[in-house]
This record gives sequence, structure tokens and C-alpha cells, in this order.
Amino acid sequence: MAATILDGKQVAAAVKAEVGSAVLGLDRAPGLATVLVGDDPASHSYVRGKRRDAAEVGIRSIHHELDASTGQTELVDLLDSLNEDDDVDGILVQLPLPGHLDSQAIVERVDPAKDVDGLHPFNLGKLMLGRPGLRPCTPSGIMRLLDHYGIGVAGARAVVVGRSFLVGRPLVMMLSEKGVDATVSVAHSRTRDLSSMTSEADILIAAAGVAGLIGPEHVMDGATVVDVGVNRVGSGLVGDVQFEAVSEVAGAITPVPGGVGPMTRAMLLANTLRAAQARNAAT
Ligand code: NAP
Repeated sequence: MAATILDGKQVAAAVKAEVGSAVLGLDRAPGLATVLVGDDPASHSYVRGKRRDAAEVGIRSIHHELDASTGQTELVDLLDSLNEDDDVDGILVQLPLPGHLDSQAIVERVDPAKDVDGLHPFNLGKLMLGRPGLRPCTPSGIMRLLDHYGIGVAGARAVVVGRSFLVGRPLVMMLSEKGVDATVSVAHSRTRDLSSMTSEADILIAAAGVAGLIGPEHVMDGATVVDVGVNRVGSGLVGDVQFEAVSEVAGAITPVPGGVGPMTRAMLLANTLRAAQARNAAT
């Protein structure tokens, strides 16, 4: 039987509607500063999309576009001024940055209260401690998607393929935290016999960035499969999961595009709202 499609577009629209109505209840529109360095076409397209999303829900975006040759000091100075700016609730520095810049230092320069990407060590630390805060958008979006479709996470065996700080590791923390209660294993490029591990999973999350890595032999009958991967193959984009073949085995599956991607974008808006609400409450 064909798997249920976990429709990220539809759930993202619901998240955006929630954010939009909450924004209407605020005294002032939240402000999201986007910072883009260089001329990578994919980064430009991502930032354009994020700004369009923000406008749709009544979030003001303040855009800064810097030359590829921008130095560390100039970028740090810009972040310092955005950190100080009361009209800015969230700061998004589009990654990856050009190679001559120290990305980690830049991520750490953002005021944690405005870190809507949830990647500052302070916010990752809060996640580790199980405390509420700004959490990374992609794993948060996946959690929201699972919740929306009523996928039973408590007590489930979850396998996360990928251990990046952007996706895999925060997801492991979120799935295993008290109250969510999955039993989680994490696989990476040095994992031996990937399929024997993944085929035990009730919930399998592929975040490796390897086109078609996960085939039907990796998936237990009826499992939920979440495909985070976005891989350019020829002129198209494909996920880490062989969608057609795995759909025949899985109980539920996310498509690429239209699965995790829209959820990531929606959670950026939710984080910006949250940052604005927290800053309003603190003043
Ligand atoms: P990353 O930093 O490159 O991390 C990839 C992870 O996958 C690493 O931990 C790596 O292991 C592991 N891996 C690589 N090959 C593997 C293999 N053959 N078997 C098992 N594990 C393997 O990538 P990322 O930033 O986490 O992103 C992962 C994918 O998600 C990419 O395709 C990215 O474009 C996509 N993505 C999508 C969204 C979205 O919104 N849809 C958001 C973020 C990322 P090692 O640690 O051993 O190297």
C-alpha cells in the first residue's frame, strides 16, 4: 500500500497562519534582519524566499547584502549594530559564508535573544538542557510535522542519519527529550551496515545530503520516513530517500520538494515571532 504523504507545504501554511494572526495581536510588527554575503545564487534564492514568507505574515524584513570580499570585522560590526537595534527582533545570517570568513565566530556574535536560526551555542545549550528557547528551524519543523500527523514518537525507535549541528544533532536532542521520549540512534558516514540499523526504525530521518542513500532495503514496513536531503542532480532536486520505491514500504513519507523545506521556512517565522514576544515581555 502506498505511504501517506506528510505534506510540509500544507502544515507550513498552518504554521504561517498561526504566526500571522499572532503578529496582528502585537503592538509592533516583528523585524527580521537578513544578512547575505556574496553572490551564491542558491543563497540569494533562499533569502528571497525567507523575506517573501516574512512579508506574508506581517514580519518586516530588513535586508543587508554584502560583497563577497567583506571582511570579518565589517560583518561583526554589522551584527553588533543589529544586536543593538531595537527594531530588529531576529537576525538571520545566511550560511554558508564565503570561505575566508569564520562562520562559527559570526554565529556566536549574534545576540542569542535574536538568534532565530537557533544555532548559537547558548541556544543549543538550552536545547541540550531541555529548556525552552530558540531552536534550529529544520529539526523544529520536523517535530511539528510529526506532531501534526499524529505520528507516535513516545517509545518509538528513531534513527537519524546525519550528525550535523544544523540538523542531525539537534534532532537527536529533540526526539529524545523528556516528554517526547523516542529512543534514538544516530548514524553517520562511518556507520557500519547502515541498513541493518535503519531497518529497525519506526521513524527514520535521512539528513546525510547523499542523493538516494535510503532505499526500500533500509526501511521497515510501515515506518515513517522523513527526508531532509536536498541534492542537486542534473537540473532537478532530489532527497536522500528513493521516494517511489520507499513509498511502497513506508507507512508515511515526506516528499522532496514539499516536505521538510517548507517547514524549515515556516519555523523561521515562528522563531522570529517568539523572539519578538520574548523581547516585548522583557521591556
Ligand atoms: P552535513 O553538515 O554535510 O552533514 C551530513 C551528515 O550526514 C554528516 O554527519 C555525515 O557524516 C552524514 N553522512 C554523509 N554521508 C553519509 C552516508 N553515506 N551514510 C551515513 N551518513 C552519512 O549536512 P547538513 O547540513 O546536515 O544537511 C544534510 C542534508 O539536508 C543536505 O542535503 C542539506 O542540503 C539538507 N538540508 C535541508 C534542509 C531543508 O530545509 N530541507 C535544511 C538543512 C539541510 P560525517 O559526520 O561522518 O561526515
